[in-house]
Order: sequence, then C-alpha cells, then structure tokens
Amino acid sequence: MEPVIVIGAGLAGSEAAWQLARRGIPVTLHEMKPQKMTPAHHSEWFAELVCSNSLRSNQLENAVGLLKEELRRMDSLILACADEHRVEAGGALAVDRHSFARAVTERIRSHPLITVVEGEVTAIPPEGNVIVASGPLTSDALAGAIGELFPESHYLNFFDAAAPLVTFESVDMDSAFFASRYDKGTPDYINCPLSEEEYDAFWSELCTAQEAEVHGFEDKQVFEGCMPVEVMARRGKQTLCYGPLKPRGLTDPKTGKEPFAVVQLRRDNAEGSIYNLVGFQTHLKWPEQKRVFSMIPALRQAEFVRYGVMHRNTYLDSPRLLDRYYRVKGQERICFAGQITGVEGYVESTASGFLAAVELARRLEGKPAVDFPRETAVGALALYISDESVTDFQPMNVNFGIIPPLGYRVKGKRNKNAELSKRALEYLEHLDLS
Ligand SMILES: Cc1cc2nc3c(=O)[nH]c(=O)nc-3n(C[C@H](O)[C@H](O)[C@H](O)COP(=O)(O)OP(=O)(O)OC[C@H]3O[C@@H](n4cnc5c(N)ncnc54)[C@H](O)[C@@H]3O)c2cc1C
Repeated sequence: MEPVIVIGAGLAGSEAAWQLARRGIPVTLHEMKPQKMTPAHHSEWFAELVCSNSLRSNQLENAVGLLKEELRRMDSLILACADEHRVEAGGALAVDRHSFARAVTERIRSHPLITVVEGEVTAIPPEGNVIVASGPLTSDALAGAIGELFPESHYLNFFDAAAPLVTFESVDMDSAFFASRYDKGTPDYINCPLSEEEYDAFWSELCTAQEAEVHGFEDKQVFEGCMPVEVMARRGKQTLCYGPLKPRGLTDPKTGKEPFAVVQLRRDNAEGSIYNLVGFQTHLKWPEQKRVFSMIPALRQAEFVRYGVMHRNTYLDSPRLLDRYYRVKGQERICFAGQITGVEGYVESTASGFLAAVELARRLEGKPAVDFPRETAVGALALYISDESVTDFQPMNVNFGIIPPLGYRVKGKRNKNAELSKRALEYLEHLDLS
C-alpha cells in the first residue's frame, strides 16, 4: 500500500500518523523542524506546545474535558502521552512540555510503519492521500501552495499570543502562596497577590507599555480566548479582575482575606522549576514585559526564561472548503487537520487529526466512514467546522453550545453538562472504530 503523506508533526499530524499506523497503514510523516522553525516553535520534538502547557479542564462538566475523555477512550497517542507526563494543575490536565513532546516523538519514530522525513514541504503532493497538518504557522511556501489549491481566497487570519515563563526560585514565596481556587483539589498554583494600590499602578503601566511591532495586527483581530493581557487591560480598569487577575476563591494565608487581585502561576515542568503566568499572553516588547510584570510584588526579582510573543495564525474558511471528515470537497484525497482547519486549541487540533486519520484508514480498507454523531464532542467539532451555514467563520474551541441539548430538564449547569458528557460517551461505545 502507498504510504499516506502527513505534513507536519504537530499535535494533529502526530495523532493522525499514529492512528493510521496502528490500523496498519504506512505513513510518511514530513516535519520541517529542526531544519526550519516556525516563529513559535523552539525544539526538535514533535507535538511541541508553543504556549501554555495546559490542555485545559480534565472534567466531564467541561466540553474540553469530554473531548479529552473521548480521545482517551479511542486510544489517542497525544492523550496517552499527556496523561503519562502530567503535572499537577488542579482540575486541568497540564503536562511537562518537554517530556510530553519527547514521548510523542519517541513513539512516532519507533513505529515500524511510520517513516519520518525531515525538511520543509513546499508543494501539495500531486498524487496519493495527503493530510496537511502544518498548523497555524504553516511555512510561507506551503501556504502559497495551499492557496493555489483553492481558486478563490479562502485564507483567514487572527493573532495568537504566548505567555512568559519564570523560574520558581526567582518567585518571592514570602509574598506569594500556594493554593487552588476554592481549595479544590491540591494547592498547585502559586498565587501572587496585589493590593488595590499595587494593582492600580500595575494596570496603568500595562495599558501604556510599549508593544512589539506585529505586522498587520490590530486589537480587534485577537481571538477572544487568547487575548493579550495588555489588550484586555485597555478594555477597562476592572476587566483583569474578572479575568486572569480574578481573586475569587483565593484566600491569602497571611491576611486570611481575598486579595484585591491575584496573578496565578502554573507549574510548567515536572520538576516544578519553571512556572508560566496564567492568562498573561502578551505582545509587549521584551524589556517592557520584564519592567511591567516585575511590578507584581512576588515577581519583583523574577527571572524570565521565556518572554511572551505574538504571531499571525492562519486558518482556512473550512465551512466552504471541507466536509465532515476534514477532506477537501471535490478532492477527497487531500484532507486538512489541526488548527489550520479553524479548530482552536491543542485538544481540538488533536481531535481533528484523529478523525481525519480514522476516516482515511477506513476508506483505504474499503470500510464505510464512521459518522461521529453531533452528540459527541469529536463529531460536533467536525460538523461545526464543515457547516456551510456558518458565514463569518471564526476559530472554534469545543463547547457544549455546538452539541444538541438533552431534550429534558436537568437542574444546574454542571449537572446538565455532566449528562451531556454521559450521553456522548454512551454514543461513542456504539461506534465501530476498527
Ligand atoms: C503563538 C501561539 C500561541 C498559542 N497558544 C496556545 C495555547 O496556549 N493553548 C492552546 O490550546 N493552543 C494554543 N495555540 C494554538 C496552537 O497552535 C494549536 O492549538 C496547536 O499547536 C495546533 O496544532 P497543529 O497540529 O495544528 O499545529 P502545530 O502544533 O503548530 O504543528 C504544525 C507542525 O507543522 C510543521 N510545519 C509547518 N509548515 C511545514 C512545512 N511546510 N513542511 C513541514 N512541516 C511544516 C511545524 O514545524 C509544526 O511542527 C497557540 C498558537 C500560537 C501560534
């Protein structure tokens, strides 16, 4: 059998290659790292997490928790490696980004049916089955080739930012304290409190700090779920206190009270030597990040091991171009997977790679496609991405709004969401994924 060509060994491409190979389909996986790096990738490993080390909520009352559980039950490589390399983060699934990426790379490289080819792909292969999973930072040459695939302009853009990382030993633990919100789970977060005066000074410097030049960027083009902290600050003095600096449910042991504002730090590696500033994605100039973020009392002496950066994120107008299996309409040998399809986030990207590969494997084996129902998170996401009635297409995180309601009343949002998840997992049990 001719190998399937997968372009990009990110989250989607790694998952797709793995799902094909474990069904006996040979794969040629092309990855341009380390020969050529995107502006946000730094390591040679596959499935590199370019910003946060969190795959978000792990709870079934949350749609991304459901999506993870579905993937887990269907033997996703990314979820297996994430579970193996998790670091404590309350109800979220966060990972040691280095050991996670290394584990994915080792599993892929040691699979006898996967051949890894290093180097940039600059054209869509003219024949054979192809999964394009080159991500939001697809190289320019390949982006040009994808553009030629579609006669009209179907590329859309938004901007995405990453948050800085600091060393644990540089955080002033006399000022900060460990706790998780409302004391749920283990106290995994470092909380950096600010008094009202400290917050006021921080906020006003943040609003006026110098931003890095990002070609073509305007504040309105940011994805709401990943908004730079300075853009959020400019929306109003209190906005951050309802967002990343929310103090609710966090009691400072020194005062016995909720601080005026709190910056949370989440563990970034298994050793706990590096922490990231939760919700602090930013595109301030690097010296400005150091100056302004060091106004947070516990971070006065903070050592920044990585600063936040912002990049243009490219995705396709998928409702016009792709079907429910992420295949190009009219050219079914080519499919897209990952963030380039307009799914937003690590887990969502993984899910699209999974679905595209399962469908392709079954087609190659002469089996009927698996129609993941809308009641499942994996299915709902694919159906949303390919829904022609969506006119102003924006990147989409998985959420319960794209899953059909239960049809009966359940009291309380958490209970209702738990029921939706229960139903989804029951549907999943009846699917033939062989
Ligand atoms: C700055 C930034 C911050 C982000 N922060 C978050 C976050 O905190 N949380 C979150 O959930 N999501 C975040 N995202 C979105 C994130 O990119 C996706 O969630 C996820 O990484 C996408 O997975 P993917 O497999 O589609 O692409 P990627 O993981 O980017 O993988 C694509 C791979 O393709 C390779 N590649 C590109 N072009 C070529 C080529 N021509 N030939 C061969 N290989 C190629 C790349 O080197 C890369 O390894 C962020 C994105 C950006 C850009």
